[in-house]
Amino acid sequence: MVKRTGSGSDEHRKLADKLAAGSPRLIRETSVADIQKLVHELNVHQVELEMQNEELRQLQLELQEARDKYQALYKFMPTGYCTLERNFVIVEANPALGEMVGMDEHKLCGRKLTNFIAPDSQESFYFYKRKMGTNDGKSTCELKLLRADKTSFYVHMMSNVILEQDEHTRRYHVSITDISELKQTEEELQLRAQLLDSASDMIMLHAHNPDQPLMYVNEMMCQSLGYSREELLAMNMRRFVVPEIQSQFPSRHQILDDKGINHFESVWVRKDGSMLPVEVNARLVKIGGRRLVLASARDITERRKLETEQRELEQIAHITSRLASVGELAAGIAHEINNPLTGVIGYAELLQQEDLPEHVQKDLKTINDGAQRVASIVNRLLTFARQTKPMRGYVNINELILNTLDLREYHLRTDNIEVVTEFDPNLPITVADGGQLQQVFLNLIANAEFEMKRSHDKGRLLIKTEKMNNNILIAFKDDGPGISKENMEKLFSPFFTTKEVGSGTGLGLSICYGIVVEHGGRIWAKSKMWEGAAFFVELPVVIEPTQFKMDETEDKKPVETKVAKILVIDDEDIVRRFLTRVLIDEGHYVDVADNGEEALKKIKDERYNLILLDIKMPGMSGTELYQKIKRIAKSLANRVVFITGDIMGDDTKNFLDKTNAFCITKPFDVGQLKKELKRFL
Ligand code: ADP
Repeated sequence: MVKRTGSGSDEHRKLADKLAAGSPRLIRETSVADIQKLVHELNVHQVELEMQNEELRQLQLELQEARDKYQALYKFMPTGYCTLERNFVIVEANPALGEMVGMDEHKLCGRKLTNFIAPDSQESFYFYKRKMGTNDGKSTCELKLLRADKTSFYVHMMSNVILEQDEHTRRYHVSITDISELKQTEEELQLRAQLLDSASDMIMLHAHNPDQPLMYVNEMMCQSLGYSREELLAMNMRRFVVPEIQSQFPSRHQILDDKGINHFESVWVRKDGSMLPVEVNARLVKIGGRRLVLASARDITERRKLETEQRELEQIAHITSRLASVGELAAGIAHEINNPLTGVIGYAELLQQEDLPEHVQKDLKTINDGAQRVASIVNRLLTFARQTKPMRGYVNINELILNTLDLREYHLRTDNIEVVTEFDPNLPITVADGGQLQQVFLNLIANAEFEMKRSHDKGRLLIKTEKMNNNILIAFKDDGPGISKENMEKLFSPFFTTKEVGSGTGLGLSICYGIVVEHGGRIWAKSKMWEGAAFFVELPVVIEPTQFKMDETEDKKPVETKVAKILVIDDEDIVRRFLTRVLIDEGHYVDVADNGEEALKKIKDERYNLILLDIKMPGMSGTELYQKIKRIAKSLANRVVFITGDIMGDDTKNFLDKTNAFCITKPFDVGQLKKELKRFL
């Protein structure tokens, strides 16, 4: 705008005012020059006025344009907009707001904004109102508005408080953005995150290069590894994969195959250092143009445990079936050997009692010693093959080991074996067959002793007992030569031995195995060549004893031998002859029968004081004959003493238990036979 300046102009204005007042004297006195000046001045002024008018017009145009723009903006802007007066009464609303709430924007005017707040957002609005009240400018909030049809939708509200010219009246300019879609997406994302977090598998997302930090982990991943989400998101996956497994993935390209997928088993390390075996499914995904790896992993600890148990069970079944078949074979062999062996041992002993030259006596001793060795091997075979249930009683394992060590005391001392015991003083008492367990311990100690002495002429044997869960664990650790991997597999197989002929039968550990399994326990070994061997026996802690049976073969008071009439029934000629010889030597009257029928005839004709009856015979068996004798006279049946070279299978054992009959097992030596007969007679 043009401004009038200069003092000259003021003089001219005064002059012009006077002239305009029409004073004739003044008109006369005013010079032409002044009038001309005045006219000039008027012209200039005229131009200035015109310019001012032009500027004003221009301004009006700009104002109109701005108003049009504002109107257009106000009308067409997608954001809702309204002005509120006191009590949140709407005084102005734009069409966008009208559209949002489903009402003509003009009808909104005069209504209160509070009437459009959804009931479940009243609380949020209450706090928002308090913020709006403060004079600190803009405030925002998210809440739900109600549409005219009473449905609700999420909005973002931003308000600006303005003081009117009177400085007391407040107005609020409120812009309202519909964020229901955004909210829905947010809710969906939250739902997805919740779903991922409630998944029972571990889920993670990481860059294609596994050296970069993880991008996402779900709750299960945090729980399983024991790290917080923040901790995990600051690590790369190599941090929790065990080093041995990592070497399988030297480069990032090897995590996935050519198709961008992979399925593999791995072992991860938890924050506390424990191992977590997992099965991983990984695939390449493209998110936002980036190549990422989405992996899910499943804890397979249970599966691994079951697999190990399954393998152990299979191994047990395998060994047990092998033991059973070898047991059967052993029983058969023992039966065949025992009959002739009875003759060999018996006659060798009888001959030794004769007055024979020294060199013959020596030969006879060799025969007898050899036969006795065979007898002891056969006896071990029978023990091995025996299917009888253990005789249970309360056993203190610590004491039992000490007793066993006492038995080996001499050997251990002379073989320079130091025995160290680490016994759990609170080891529970368990119900077991003490005799059988002693056999197990004896065998383990003797084996360790033998191997240590053989390898370095001395040794140290550690025997440790402890309670583990509901089991008693007994460990025998020696510093002997150890066991090769190859021998480890055959250790419990019958007849496996590395000892020289004559020193070992290879039945010791298989017998131990049978006994321990019969007790519901486990036996296993751990060893590396040249690093000593450790044998472990695990027995369940059993509280309830089953009926404990006393050993019936215990010596009773010696009884005077009477002269008796004895019938010997055996299908083996050598046994019959040997028995006859011994019994006649003892002064008895002896009759023989080689089968059940013949024996029955003799029994009907003659009263015998004693009937020696072989259990296994072709045709009528010993047990059948016994039943027939019982039917003839019960008192006669009481005079039966069974002889058997067979193992005591379940049937025979049950039969003997039921009849309560005496039994002599083959091969028997002369002394033993005489002792048994004296006891009976
Ligand atoms: P045997 O003692 O008659 O050989 P076993 O069944 O008791 O029969 O033992 C079988 C084999 O197991 C032995 O011959 C030996 O090779 C091996 N063995 C057992 N105990 C040990 C041990 N403590 N150290 C090294 N080897 C052992």
